[in-house]
Amino acid sequence: MDISRADLQRALERIVQIALDRNDTLPELPVVKVNHDFVQAESQLLNTPLPENGQGLNDIFSTVYQTVLKDAPSANGPRYFGLITGGTTPASIVGDFVATLYDLNVSLHLPKETVATAIEQLTLDMVLDLCYIPREAFPGKILTTGATASNTVGLMVGRQWVAQQRWNIDIAEDGFCGKTIRLIGGRAHSSMIKAAAMVGIGRRNYIDVSLDDEGHQWDLDQLEKILKEQQVKDVEASIVVVGYGEINTSCFTNDVLKIRELCTKYDAWLHIDAAFGLFARAIPTHAHMAPHIESADSLTSDGHKWLNVPYDCGLFYTKHVDVCEQVFGAKSAYLATANAGGADIRQPLNMGIENSRRFRALPMYMSLLTYGAKGYRDMFASNCRFTELLGDWINENPELELLMPVQLNNVLFSATAAKWNTQGGNDAFIDAIKETGLLYVSKTVYKGKPAIRAAVSNWRTNIDTDLPITIKGIEKALQS
Ligand SMILES: *Cc1c(COP(=O)(O)O)cnc(C)c1O
Repeated sequence: MDISRADLQRALERIVQIALDRNDTLPELPVVKVNHDFVQAESQLLNTPLPENGQGLNDIFSTVYQTVLKDAPSANGPRYFGLITGGTTPASIVGDFVATLYDLNVSLHLPKETVATAIEQLTLDMVLDLCYIPREAFPGKILTTGATASNTVGLMVGRQWVAQQRWNIDIAEDGFCGKTIRLIGGRAHSSMIKAAAMVGIGRRNYIDVSLDDEGHQWDLDQLEKILKEQQVKDVEASIVVVGYGEINTSCFTNDVLKIRELCTKYDAWLHIDAAFGLFARAIPTHAHMAPHIESADSLTSDGHKWLNVPYDCGLFYTKHVDVCEQVFGAKSAYLATANAGGADIRQPLNMGIENSRRFRALPMYMSLLTYGAKGYRDMFASNCRFTELLGDWINENPELELLMPVQLNNVLFSATAAKWNTQGGNDAFIDAIKETGLLYVSKTVYKGKPAIRAAVSNWRTNIDTDLPITIKGIEKALQS
């Protein structure tokens, strides 16, 4: 398995060259190269057998460059507005590379051996600082693989707490014991429903109490009625999930304080899914959109979206450290005894799903410190300004319809011409946009109608240079 120093050096130098070139040229590269030959190439690729003898690192590097890297989408480029993709700051790329180089397993708090666990706690605390949330609000915190994982952890901890609170049942030890836990929300993100399926709550036990398509206004009377009935019948309890914000429109749930009061009154758990919306709090003009976030029992956010660190990285916070340990606590003796001295840092493996975990904090830590709170605030504000200006342009263009006034960093729109206006037409319009290679967007459905979503969440997205190119791309697609 040995490799010569010269071979390793050559491969590393190639990485450095690619990193520098990509850093210089990313804004000019096609956002995506749509090529139907890729489909054929994929089938051939799948038939490749494992070779008996190794082929050498640099030959393989060349092959990978040709087949995978050369035509890869510029997913971390400035006009990739699909999903909520985010980018990767140079500091986070360096951090990620270093995390791989050392390959620490951040599963145990070993204060005499490494400060890695402390760095993870600190990184999570600094994100709270960035969003003006007191660190004390969430003593429990851990990095996950993404918001879906964080939402899953939230439901795992929430179900443990409500069952204990209501019936003195320990789900981690004994299972559901015939009880039903429901998830109540308003236009909750699909990952919440997926999480409900994964943790034994069940997809069908999701109840939507929203009064609109944005999950903005809730039927609080219905919420109270459900929670009250659950107490009377005594075989059901609930986790309530608030969306900060909704994926299509970036709308935030209203009346969070009232929802909090109802949760407290009826022993329900309050989870806030703020995958991207958490960072509204860091922008002075938008902070009012996400109030009372510190009142959540558990909170989800994402690192690999608007924080611009590489995949995979999610954030999870909770007020209930002990409940996490009941759910995730490892029973092995050698694991349980590892916490000797040091600060009050919990064993990561007792706070989340994974036992073995990469040093996921390092890219975020290095990025936060490299740019500071101001660097991040300015990026969030600039992305929002870009989105507003794009929304204004769409609104004034008779060939396009802005489906929702811009709230944060999402633009929701469709084309007005009859040929673009059906499901198939909308898909074709999105394909035409992608074919330009100038920008990337996602398809969605809003109020039952096909629509297009552009989410701006990249540190490189520049109003002066990228807005004209974005507009040119949409205009070109309209003419096709
Ligand atoms: C993106 C998103 C998720 C899922 O996040 P992943 O990081 O893709 O797992 C959950 N909730 C909201 C509101 C999101 O925007």
